[in-house]
Amino acid sequence: MKKDIAIIGAGASGLVAAITAAKAGAKVTVYEKSAKIGKKIHASGNGRCNITNDNISLENYHGKHPHFAKETIQFDAKKFFNELGLQLRRGNGTRLYPLSHQASCVVDFLGFACKKYGVTFVKECEIEKIEKENAHFILHYHDTHTLADAVIIATGSGAMPNLGSSESGYAFAKAFGHEVEKPFAALVQLNSPEKVFTKASGVKIEAEMEIYVDNQPKMGIKGDLLFTSYGLSGSAILDLSRIASRATMKKQDVFIMIDLLPDFSQQALKALLQKQLPLKLPLYLWLNGIIPKKLIEPIMIVAKLDANTPLNNKTINTLAYTLKNLKVSISGTRGAKGAEIMAGGILTEEINPKTMESKLVKGLYFTGEVVDIDGDCGGYNLHWAWSSGYRAGENSVL
Ligand SMILES: Cc1cc2nc3c(=O)[nH]c(=O)nc-3n(C[C@H](O)[C@H](O)[C@H](O)COP(=O)(O)OP(=O)(O)OC[C@H]3O[C@@H](n4cnc5c(N)ncnc54)[C@H](O)[C@@H]3O)c2cc1C
Repeated sequence: MKKDIAIIGAGASGLVAAITAAKAGAKVTVYEKSAKIGKKIHASGNGRCNITNDNISLENYHGKHPHFAKETIQFDAKKFFNELGLQLRRGNGTRLYPLSHQASCVVDFLGFACKKYGVTFVKECEIEKIEKENAHFILHYHDTHTLADAVIIATGSGAMPNLGSSESGYAFAKAFGHEVEKPFAALVQLNSPEKVFTKASGVKIEAEMEIYVDNQPKMGIKGDLLFTSYGLSGSAILDLSRIASRATMKKQDVFIMIDLLPDFSQQALKALLQKQLPLKLPLYLWLNGIIPKKLIEPIMIVAKLDANTPLNNKTINTLAYTLKNLKVSISGTRGAKGAEIMAGGILTEEINPKTMESKLVKGLYFTGEVVDIDGDCGGYNLHWAWSSGYRAGENSVL
């Protein structure tokens, strides 16, 4: 008789688990609380879906025990999608996207494969409770219940609840005796209490940045920085946000030091300014030629300089220093509602890394973001979702 597998969540990891288990011969039913499947995939990569990365490495993964993901992330996501008929291409370095650059097509291909292998979807169905009685799982929903031989919990995290996220996976795991590392927002925008930078809201530049926690440098990065009305955003900030999120939760002092002109050393910048002294340019005009206009006022306030005075020997040092060391204090993050992912989740010590099966409950599997593994920006989170979904899908059938 075919094994009856229930998958909770028709997101990235649940859909790959469903295809894999159904293709291997199981009777697969996916329960999804939304009316649509793959809502987060739709929204991913600004609607383009950064599906995976050509440079997958354990260094890009985090959690209490990132090593847990070592074997699973060897999964060849490119081959998997090529076999479904979806072509990928590189963009922005080693990041991979569907050739059409449309996130929606990824959902369409996954949906088509589910149909082909006979996966059943039960939509607008929120699983409320899962129990195990002898060899069977009992799934409760809408005042009724159903049975399954194995259950794959692919419920994601609480990040961006407007996209159908839920924290129910953690509750299911806890009810079966699993421990959960408190989830916290990661890949998220940062709040700053410094109102001076709100004047630069909307300015996007490429800069070099370093995050400090209690005055200790923790991580440096070069990339996109966006000044906003609440603080800082941009892809480089998202990559620093995990550290900021953890540290601000612990009430540690956090700031980001920004180098607005990474292509010049401070010495080279001073030399350039010296050369322009004879022109007697007012500071605002000189700055207007090298940084976005909206940044001039904040820079003048921070450096305590008057934008109308001409460049002189006294101002050169202050100006060069400020442009290379703009300090922005961080008070916290935009939280789950703004986060692309939540770090933390079900502790990996209690999950078998070769199968994604619970070590506590036979036949119970966990995939994707609900597990205490999170990746950097660059396709690493979807890669984890596909690969853990594949692993659980193929093993749940055995
Ligand atoms: C705006 C945005 C952009 C992103 N862009 C990228 C990107 O370009 N590249 C990248 O690698 N990562 C990206 N991510 C992260 C990535 O989308 C997630 O890490 C990934 O989708 C997680 O997959 P998952 O299967 O764990 O959960 P999800 O894809 O979130 O799926 C979980 C599903 O479970 C359902 N569900 C939850 N609880 C229940 C329940 N009790 N009963 C029934 N159904 C339930 C939910 O409705 C949902 O459909 C992005 C995330 C966001 C929010």
